[in-house]
Amino acid sequence: MTFTLSNKGIIKLDVSIIEIVQFYQQTEKEDLEAGGVLLGRFIVDSKNIIVDKVSTPMPGDKRTRYSFNRGAKMHQRFIDKEWNQSNGTSHYLGEWHTHPEKHPEPSGKDLSNWTIHLKRDTFSSRFLYFVILGTKEICIWEGDRRTFKFKKLKAL
Ligand SMILES: [Zn+2]
Repeated sequence: MTFTLSNKGIIKLDVSIIEIVQFYQQTEKEDLEAGGVLLGRFIVDSKNIIVDKVSTPMPGDKRTRYSFNRGAKMHQRFIDKEWNQSNGTSHYLGEWHTHPEKHPEPSGKDLSNWTIHLKRDTFSSRFLYFVILGTKEICIWEGDRRTFKFKKLKAL
């Protein structure tokens, strides 16, 4: 899946990570929300980004049918490990979680959590990316650390 960025570059969700997150799709009524962080690479001499690593639910997360709160410690350990193993080319880019609805939209709680990430997290660019996987559709929002606005990106 590929989406157009606000700067006209693209962000690609690699097929390998789509397969991983789809495992957690809330297709059954007892399925809990799931989530993790997005990692990937800025492609040299372009505005393009590829997301090619994700973390998945870990001890310390709080999961219900209608909420997912990522525990900080284990996911940070994942980010640090990937950063080191990639010699500093695998960057923290944002996060993903699931929703038990066909066409996902961020809740008020999601928007306030995302704003906190824009304010507090360490990241390389002006933006963080937030993926929500619904039961029929996967969507991505671009969060701007300068304006704290979130823009839903269009699929290519
Ligand atoms: Zn949500």
